Amino acid sequence: MENDDFIRTTEERHKRTVQAVLQKVYDAGDIYFATYGGHYCFGCERFYTDKELVDGKCPDHGVAPTWIEEQNYFFRMSKYQDWLKQHILDNPEFIRPERYRSEVLSMLDMGVLEDLCISRPKSRLTWGIELPFDANYVTYVWFDALLNYVTALDWPDGEKFAKFWPVAQHLVAKDILKPHAIFWPTMLKAAGLPVYAHLNVHGYWLVKDTKMSKSLGNVVEPVRLSEVYGLDAFRYFLLREMRFGSDASFSEDALVGRLNADLANDLGNLFSRVLSMCAKYFGGAVPTPGDLVEEDQALMGLGRTSLENFTALFPRCRFSMALEALWELVRGLNKYVDEQAPWALAKQGDTARLGTVVYVLLEWMRKVAAHLWPVMPGAAEAMYGQLGLALDGPGLDLGAEAAAWGGLKPGGALATASNLFPRLEVGGAPQGTKADAVPAGKPAKEAKPKAGKEEKPACTPAEGPCTVEFADFQKLELRVGSVLAAEKHPDADKLLKLSVDLGEEGGPRQIVAGLAEFFAPEALVGRQVVVVANLAPRKIRGLVSQGMVMAVRTEGGMELVAVSGPVAPGSRVS
Ligand SMILES: [Zn+2]
Repeated sequence: MENDDFIRTTEERHKRTVQAVLQKVYDAGDIYFATYGGHYCFGCERFYTDKELVDGKCPDHGVAPTWIEEQNYFFRMSKYQDWLKQHILDNPEFIRPERYRSEVLSMLDMGVLEDLCISRPKSRLTWGIELPFDANYVTYVWFDALLNYVTALDWPDGEKFAKFWPVAQHLVAKDILKPHAIFWPTMLKAAGLPVYAHLNVHGYWLVKDTKMSKSLGNVVEPVRLSEVYGLDAFRYFLLREMRFGSDASFSEDALVGRLNADLANDLGNLFSRVLSMCAKYFGGAVPTPGDLVEEDQALMGLGRTSLENFTALFPRCRFSMALEALWELVRGLNKYVDEQAPWALAKQGDTARLGTVVYVLLEWMRKVAAHLWPVMPGAAEAMYGQLGLALDGPGLDLGAEAAAWGGLKPGGALATASNLFPRLEVGGAPQGTKADAVPAGKPAKEAKPKAGKEEKPACTPAEGPCTVEFADFQKLELRVGSVLAAEKHPDADKLLKLSVDLGEEGGPRQIVAGLAEFFAPEALVGRQVVVVANLAPRKIRGLVSQGMVMAVRTEGGMELVAVSGPVAPGSRVS
């Protein structure tokens, strides 16, 4: 899914659509002129019913509304009530999930739909689109706004309208269910347009069962989370954790827990162990499979069912269930590794059987990766890359994948190691005098990819020393940089904005560091510092920081990590 258009309802193309549709509906006799009286809030520019007012006042503005009687145009929505009800009954997936379909049906059963007031006199509302049949009036909100969906597809005779409208799916939040489920289809029907195919209604992300709000200060920032945990992993969590249609509760603990369980332990571990076995036993090449035995056939059955379920559920917005179905396969593959014990086959010298087991694993891993593409495109491409293949995501035929076999060709080159989803941790930076990178102004809670807490419990400072593989250490790019300029961060007392020369062609880097409490800016200019150079850039209080300066916290302050003599800017620390 991507956005290939952006529309404002003030655009000329939209005005044309609205006027053409209004004229059609008017000519058909479904728009009429009548006197309407109601409680009007000028702040909201809308009428309120008695029921909607709180102690007789506007719920948003807290002021008593004004009783207004005026003549307006109305859309004869009531005329289409029975048709709409029948359409919903005949098409069980028209509104989904089911709870919202039932909600709409009960709205329709509650009584006769009121006709929709669709105009405001120009004397009172200066903006809006003029009615084609009465220049003294403009259209008001829903009748105008909903039509932007067909405007964007170049209704009535655009190619996009012909291609997309018959299969159109709306994706809306539950608070705008009524206009999309009742106003919109009846408007389409009255205008002689086919109705959309599906209305998909989602719930809200809550924080500790409360709505997010700026005043409560509990707003979760998706961009920050995707930077900290990775965009693909964050996407996976959002689709896996929320039952589409229901509200879901967000917490960073739940996020880390889910990513560690599903991605690091199940999927990442599968890739890691199978690829390292391929490297060890087959020199990093796809082995040649022999005949499949009963255990292999059982796995094939599980795999086909899992993929068929995924393919049936995903397009119906049942993302969470679809991923659950796919993970039955992922866990089944890990279990197959344990039961078939390739290491034992290698020890026995049974290369033929070993080749079959490993091939079966690799081929199902490929299929899992293909199915993950809609959820985690980047990770799916990386998995394909490790399997020595290129993934054409948009060209995938997932329907055919469940039954297909043999996508991997024996002899093909594989990655010899895999670390797709390192284990994550929610927690603060280590305390004490250990050298650590210092971008102060960071949230106290910061997750860092770290060695597994459960597998290697020694890896937190409280629990004693921790070991990492040399290869992991090598991933850190520590470089010496010369500070060319330093100044206070315009919006943060503890931060300095540094310009650091790392000997790079693109010029010096901007680094934001929490040093202002301990160093005057001018005291840093000309000094050499050690920089973590390959951290993903991040914004700190509005300024992009392209690295971290290493420092040591002392009892009374802070000292910088330095080299014992001058070195060329950009020299690597090893
Ligand atoms: Zn109001």
